Amino acid sequence: MLPRIFHSKPSTFFVLVVSLVILALSFLPSTTLLPRLRLLTSHFTLRPISTAATTVNNTTNMASYAQELNIALLAVQRATLLTKSVFHSHAKGTLSKNDASPVTIGDFGAQALIIAALQHAFPQDAIVAEEEAKDLRENESLRDLVWDLVQNAKLADSSAEETLGGPIKSPAEMLDIIDKGDSAGGSSGRIWAIDPIDGTKGFLRGGQYAVCLGLMVDGDVKVGVLGLPNLPESDSEPLVEGIGAEQTDAAGKGVLISAVQGQGAASRPLGKGALAEGHSIQMKPLENVSEATFCESVEAGHSSQGDAADIARKLGITKPSVRMDSQAKYGSIARGAGDLYLRLPVKKDYVEKIWDHAAGDLIVREAGGEVTDVEGKRLDFGQGRTLKNNKGVIAAPKSVHAQVIEAVKSVLGSK
Ligand code: AMP
Ligand code: MG
Repeated sequence: MLPRIFHSKPSTFFVLVVSLVILALSFLPSTTLLPRLRLLTSHFTLRPISTAATTVNNTTNMASYAQELNIALLAVQRATLLTKSVFHSHAKGTLSKNDASPVTIGDFGAQALIIAALQHAFPQDAIVAEEEAKDLRENESLRDLVWDLVQNAKLADSSAEETLGGPIKSPAEMLDIIDKGDSAGGSSGRIWAIDPIDGTKGFLRGGQYAVCLGLMVDGDVKVGVLGLPNLPESDSEPLVEGIGAEQTDAAGKGVLISAVQGQGAASRPLGKGALAEGHSIQMKPLENVSEATFCESVEAGHSSQGDAADIARKLGITKPSVRMDSQAKYGSIARGAGDLYLRLPVKKDYVEKIWDHAAGDLIVREAGGEVTDVEGKRLDFGQGRTLKNNKGVIAAPKSVHAQVIEAVKSVLGSK
């Protein structure tokens, strides 16, 4: 007769055997088996801890980024006002890009102001910015011009100014601040990307340019802000051909467009002090891609206008393209003033810079769009200072993006 236990259910039998093995192991001296067993049990006890970590991560993912957005909006607004003031005091029709050109002065000044604000609010964060202070260190008169502007760039609201940490203290501090934008970028931690004046040619001709700021966390864009002083304040104003020049200070111009991941995109008038009230924006619903208005660069060297025309033809688009400089293209389609943004590589070896796309990419996606490269891959902001894994940019409403990519592939593939 077998003992009763062998007649019980197999699961009870299994539990008994496992218990006996564990009991036997606990009597063994320190053998190689024991540490293994400990490792095994610690793996299981770690489970709840890693669940807790996931919870913390989820909370971070769902972070409101309210403070980041507020600082970014105010910093971009202040820097945008500086660029406007330099246009008036120094541009006077010059189209030069020499050392002391308005665009150089504006670039340095805007970068100094934005980094100063970020350093005050988020001293631990890394920064990728386009400019470095080397030229200013070597050229005293240029440095003085920039310092003069930076000193006088204040928001007309003392509490907003205080939020940004107040003025920079000296020319030397200003140079050090400018050089803080030298991060190599990458896929971990909090990294801000700044383009102090995107669309330099547009700036010089009084057309479209943008002051751009994006926050990436672990390579993912979380907050994006664009200062667009020469775009219409009104979201519904359709894009017109002349938008690319002589818009500075025309009535009803100047807007801040922003987005936070998971919270949508917004637009507000560009003010001079505290932030104006914002309202949410969406891309225009597009029933048929053939009705689209598409935006592209003014500079033929930045995006192939011939390829864009071929792609448009393939999609049945009959409206002429709207050409404008800078990330104003992203802002314009995000609020439904246009529909598509095509950026088609001209030079095979050119790599796009993260500061030219971080804010715009998030703004369009949060407004209901899709942003990819010409192959349909999402832009990868975790690769350093450039988008080395991507070629070109195609931004479109979700409903037609795949169709646009198909046309892009067929045109580019046939070359
Ligand atoms: P956009 O105003 O849209 O034409 O873009 C302006 C940006 O184009 C500048 O900030 C430059 O970083 C970038 N850029 C410079 N050279 C090229 C190029 N060959 N292809 C694409 N973008 C470029
Ligand atoms: Mg740029």
